[in-house]
Amino acid sequence: MMSTVDEAAVRGAIDTTACVVGGGPAGLMLGLLLARQGVPVTVLEKHADFLRDFRGDTVHPSTLRVLDELGLGPAVAALPRGRRVTQLRVTFDDGTYPLVDFARLAEPHPYLLFLPQWDFLDLLAAHATGYPAFRLLRRTQVTAVTRDERGRVTGVRAQGPAGEVTVRARLTVACDGRTSTVRSELGLVPVDYGAPMDVLWFRVSRRSGDPAGLDMRVSAGGLLLCIDRDDYFQCAFVIAKGGFDEVRARGLPDLRAGVVHRAPHFADRIAEVSTWDDVKLLTVRVDRLPHWHVPGALLIGDAAHAMSPIGGVGINLAIQDAVATARLLGPRLSAGTLTDADLALVQRRRLFPTRVTQAVQVQAQRRLVDPLLRGTGPVTAPAALRLASRVPVLRGIPARVVGLGVRPEHV
Ligand SMILES: Cc1cc2nc3c(=O)[nH]c(=O)nc-3n(C[C@H](O)[C@H](O)[C@H](O)COP(=O)(O)OP(=O)(O)OC[C@H]3O[C@@H](n4cnc5c(N)ncnc54)[C@H](O)[C@@H]3O)c2cc1C
Repeated sequence: MMSTVDEAAVRGAIDTTACVVGGGPAGLMLGLLLARQGVPVTVLEKHADFLRDFRGDTVHPSTLRVLDELGLGPAVAALPRGRRVTQLRVTFDDGTYPLVDFARLAEPHPYLLFLPQWDFLDLLAAHATGYPAFRLLRRTQVTAVTRDERGRVTGVRAQGPAGEVTVRARLTVACDGRTSTVRSELGLVPVDYGAPMDVLWFRVSRRSGDPAGLDMRVSAGGLLLCIDRDDYFQCAFVIAKGGFDEVRARGLPDLRAGVVHRAPHFADRIAEVSTWDDVKLLTVRVDRLPHWHVPGALLIGDAAHAMSPIGGVGINLAIQDAVATARLLGPRLSAGTLTDADLALVQRRRLFPTRVTQAVQVQAQRRLVDPLLRGTGPVTAPAALRLASRVPVLRGIPARVVGLGVRPEHV
């Protein structure tokens, strides 16, 4: 993957209009959209490439529409590792029920696209690199924000391969994720809405005859989600919050047995999860900043609001934040008329969808996940789910809520 500059040669001070901290979904999409408007933008990413640990890979219909609007639809469709999934089935102790049917959406892309996040980020970076106003500095870790004598944020200091870099910018946007350095540098603390669970991620190979698509397997004490990735399943095993040490103490054979109990067809291959290195812990957080901006700086994506994995909407909300930010602030940045008061426009636009989505997630955690994790007896499908399995039109409702979300954005 090329970047527009050789970051190994970059040291000293850089002047730009927008400094974007973090090259995840929010940061790269924002960088691309601002550069497309001709706004000079520098994205700083601490990693050398996007081939990071598994970070989730759901690209929802609303994001696919944004990619179409950018003319990237054909490039996305050509990515070899993308998998289209139209249905989510849930298996309880009393049987399997279809729950979500994305094919019912009257959308250009009525499906969830499962795409390795690094492929998605590579695509955004490659496209952004075509705009002269775009600059991506990899291997460059932001360590501090800089301020003027009135306390207004003027940019960041970072450590790159050639030494310290100072980036001076009209606007700094923190897209550095759920443990944002910029956020802590600014002394901003998100409100924690709590989560009863953590998630263990691992892979199990997929064989011919295995179920395709998206499968959730529910029984007391845990929940297993299996994402069909062609030759393997990306599996998410939901455990009680803070329970990983206990799971480890019980040993891998116990974890494997819990998985096979929910997915008996894994019995002949669960040994592929052979060490704890094969198992990644996602510490689930649901939090949100009361204020997403201070003079000179804005926070979006996970840096402003970490989402529960329920619905797999984190990437999509991050993208939607970026689209709204570029649309609302880009023209002002371009014209040189941006004021600090304008930064409130982004929070005003994006707070409602974020709040509604998190409220739904917190309710689902409380009413469905928590009792399940604490339960011991057989778990049968709720009446609403049994009804949805008999009335296909009802399966379009969760498809709309998850796939399009609240207030989808347009480029
Ligand atoms: C294991 C796991 C599974 C997930 N599954 C899903 C899923 O299925 N679907 C879904 O929608 N969401 C999922 N998520 C959540 C999703 O990954 C995030 O919501 C989404 O990536 C947020 O995007 P972002 O751009 O705001 O932040 P991030 O993706 O976190 O990107 C932040 C970027 O900033 C960089 N960075 C951090 N600090 C610095 C610094 N100081 N200097 C420079 N760069 C820095 C990081 O390297 C990273 O590239 C999952 C998360 C995890 C951890």
